[in-house]
Amino acid sequence: MRFHPLTGEFALPANEAAFLVHKLPQTRALLGFTLVFCTVFYLAFAVSDLTALGYGPGFVRLCAARAVVAATAGTCAWLAYRRPLSVAATRSAASAAEAVALACFMFIAVQRPGEFHWHAMSLAIMLIVIYLYIPNSFAGALALTSIATVAFLGLALKYGRLTAADVVTMIMLLVLANAFGALAARRFNQVSREEYQARAQLQHAAARDHLTGCFNRRHLHDNLMRPGQVRTPHGGGLVTVVMCDIDNFKRINDTYGHASGDAVLRTFAELLTQMTRDGVDSVVRYGGEEFLAILPDTDLDGGIGLAERLRTRFAGTSVATDDGTAQVRTTASFGVACADLTAGAGDNVVRDLIAAADKLMYDAKRGGRDRVHARCVCDGGAGRAAPLRAASVSRR
Ligand code: GH3
Ligand code: MG
Ligand code: MG
Repeated sequence: MRFHPLTGEFALPANEAAFLVHKLPQTRALLGFTLVFCTVFYLAFAVSDLTALGYGPGFVRLCAARAVVAATAGTCAWLAYRRPLSVAATRSAASAAEAVALACFMFIAVQRPGEFHWHAMSLAIMLIVIYLYIPNSFAGALALTSIATVAFLGLALKYGRLTAADVVTMIMLLVLANAFGALAARRFNQVSREEYQARAQLQHAAARDHLTGCFNRRHLHDNLMRPGQVRTPHGGGLVTVVMCDIDNFKRINDTYGHASGDAVLRTFAELLTQMTRDGVDSVVRYGGEEFLAILPDTDLDGGIGLAERLRTRFAGTSVATDDGTAQVRTTASFGVACADLTAGAGDNVVRDLIAAADKLMYDAKRGGRDRVHARCVCDGGAGRAAPLRAASVSRR
């Protein structure tokens, strides 16, 4: 995954969107906390209005402006805490609170024109908060801070009683705050995305089998076999498990070497992965030359169909040996078991289906290999077997 050189965000919009969704709970909490924290200070600074203007209509006007900021920020913080806002809604809430706070800040600055030096310092801090603490896109933060900086300098020139040295220093201060804020935001963006990427790579490595890229036993036990993990929203509650075992695999290792055996394993896994639905079905390397497909929303015939297609394709596929001097061909045996989650299949339905499919696969081995044995475990019905075929290991 590449990063945008200026913003530190992911270059690919799909990667960026996935990252933002992953981070959303943290982002909402950060937004809520930052808005409450900043609002408290915004209100506390009313003391400086009182000191500067004394009690009177001017002070009341500024208090009203601060109250508007507090109300907007409070509403946004409350929304972020209480409602599961989307990424776009969270960013809109952040932008709305920022825009109102900046507009009121300009109003307050104009009402206290003798203190533009102090206002410039306050604005510099606000800019850094916007870059670093208020969750927004880099472009969104940059747009807001640039507009605020230009507007503030315009007001300072018009209303502030400033010397040329004041103006130059003020411009330098605000340029520094913007540059530092933007650089820090870019760095923070990239570091948080690198961390996310590293974690995703670790999770991927921990869940996958190195040789075939299929899920491993750890992922099967930690995730797929957990109660309630398999859902069947479109298939009326049916879930099917296909257990596959390559026939006479040991003979391939013994005849052609382990590297050639590995090539056969990779080919089988590739075919099985191609034939299953991405993001719906789960393909697991269950043992050495045993693979498992968990198919939600699939009835027994769907499972048999997959096993038959795979059996035929694999039996007709030649795999080149490690040294390229020969072609290996073998077959596989399959056990297919189906259950209905809505018919009291129990919490451990996947475990039960694996056990049933395993038994059926061994029935297929005993029946002569290169065949599919299937059964629906919820109807107590008799097993069904596909036509018999002879197992073979051939050299071309
Ligand atoms: P059957 O038809 O009854 O399934 O016989 P089989 O020879 O396929 O089964 P068996 O259990 O006797 O042998 C499986 C072999 O798979 C033994 C083991 O050395 C080999 N094996 C396990 N993991 C790997 C692996 O990652 N790579 C290779 N090349 N071989 C492996
Ligand atoms: Mg085996
Ligand atoms: Mg085998």
